[in-house]
Amino acid sequence: MWQQRADVIVIGTGVAGLVAALAAHRRGRNVVVLSKASDTATFYAQGGIAVVLPDTDDSIDAHVADTLAAGAGLCDPAAVRSIVSDGYRAVRELVDDGARFDEAEPGRWSLTREGGHSRRRIIHSGGDATGAEVQRALDRAAATLDIRRNHTALQLLADDGAVTGVRVLNDDGPGIIHAPAVILATGGLGHLYSATTNPAGSTGDGVALAIWAGVPVSDVEFIQFHPTMLFDGHAGGRRPLITEAVRGEGGKLVDRQGNSIMTGVHPMGDLAPRDVVAAAIDARLRETGDPCAYLDARHIADFARRFPTVTAACRAAGIDPTRQPIPIVPGAHYSCGGVVAGVDGRTELPGLFAAGEVARTGMHGANRLASNSLLEGLVVGSRAGKAAAEHAVTTGATQAELDTVETRLALPRAKLQRAMSKYASVVRDGEGLQQLCRELEAADPREFTCRADFEDVALTTTARAVTAAALARTESRGCHHRSDFPDTDPALAQSQALEAACC
Ligand SMILES: Cc1cc2nc3c(=O)[nH]c(=O)nc-3n(C[C@H](O)[C@H](O)[C@H](O)COP(=O)(O)OP(=O)(O)OC[C@H]3O[C@@H](n4cnc5c(N)ncnc54)[C@H](O)[C@@H]3O)c2cc1C
Repeated sequence: MWQQRADVIVIGTGVAGLVAALAAHRRGRNVVVLSKASDTATFYAQGGIAVVLPDTDDSIDAHVADTLAAGAGLCDPAAVRSIVSDGYRAVRELVDDGARFDEAEPGRWSLTREGGHSRRRIIHSGGDATGAEVQRALDRAAATLDIRRNHTALQLLADDGAVTGVRVLNDDGPGIIHAPAVILATGGLGHLYSATTNPAGSTGDGVALAIWAGVPVSDVEFIQFHPTMLFDGHAGGRRPLITEAVRGEGGKLVDRQGNSIMTGVHPMGDLAPRDVVAAAIDARLRETGDPCAYLDARHIADFARRFPTVTAACRAAGIDPTRQPIPIVPGAHYSCGGVVAGVDGRTELPGLFAAGEVARTGMHGANRLASNSLLEGLVVGSRAGKAAAEHAVTTGATQAELDTVETRLALPRAKLQRAMSKYASVVRDGEGLQQLCRELEAADPREFTCRADFEDVALTTTARAVTAAALARTESRGCHHRSDFPDTDPALAQSQALEAACC
């Protein structure tokens, strides 16, 4: 088994991982960055980054208030204020690293507005290609760092109650990198479901790694389903997103007969909050038995110029959005919860930090406000990098124990995704979740000697955590909808920490 040493290990090369790695590297630490996959969710982000700019009619108070309203009583107000207040600094740092945003006029960024925001505060790039620009700039800034592609983190190693390294799989087989500080920046968990907007690497690894290391995770029942994911009949896996801005420009949601889906459901109609729209589409599909609904954007002028990414995705699927309604379904999109961490990424396990979508900082509560996740990744990623750099110096070199776990429970992936999609999707109920528990309990021991097997194991652990959390939350709140408990229960207005997958 190969062995190496670093001061700081960063797991992930999306916005949170690269910002953290740059911060630790700029403090003189020997940083090793691991990535199992070539793409990231960061790359696919469309809408933009929510940030309060100076000298506008916006304010930190207004952005905090909007975030708390979306979070449906479960945000940590102090964490929200801390992250939102640091947004402009973090964005300026990204600009110093080479990112460019669309301008309304030279020297003034163009600001757009998305669902739930009371002001125009979303900066964007390339129209609807913000994530690609963020990723491009960070990849370039981090080009001289020690980035190891095709390296999968399999296990966090700890001794005497502190992190000592990571067990890793690469083309030479399993090995160990010893380090006193590890930053989890592994992104989301969309591949718990048959179809998702997330890239192939979003298999909940960070949540599983934390659970195995005894580190609390929380709020994992709050999975945001985007109402409009492109549907092309048979495809599972990553599906393109049709940005909310299409409805902002007048796109209408209709069923196969052309009947409006949102009329009479919510005063804001097609622009109602994401969870309301996703639940309404889900209800219509259950009622009609149709496989998909439609987003009619045929009347939007200059569609291809305004939405180049969406147009390209539709054309690749053989759909011309200017001539035919776009077939859509709600799709697993964003994990609001995750590994419990502070606003500087610190977790309960000394030396372990978490940033980006994998972390639960209290920023999103029961529902994420649009475009707040890139913001959180930038701010918490940079703070976690600094904190990990300091921690590595104070702790000094570590020697990880070599007793490793080779086998854990896994359900075959397609079976797990079918069960999650059926019982733990947009709308859940107790009976379905109990059935899901039974199916997850039938998982078999699996050796994980390749990335795919490891991901199945991680998905199964994460699915158990999501199911346990969804069962325990006997109410509807934010993006967790229970048909057997349709109301919000004020007595449950707190996060529940799960120390182990107990379903
Ligand atoms: C289609 C789409 C559109 C979006 N639009 C927006 C938007 O407009 N605004 C916004 O704020 N947010 C948006 N989001 C959400 C946002 O993009 C993500 O939440 C954010 O980019 C996550 O960043 P991250 O650094 O945490 O993870 P990611 O960018 O997903 O990166 C995760 C990294 O971890 C690596 N990894 C995972 N597991 C392992 C392992 N075991 N070993 C080694 N490496 C591992 C992966 O290879 C990858 O490098 C969107 C998301 C999607 C999918």
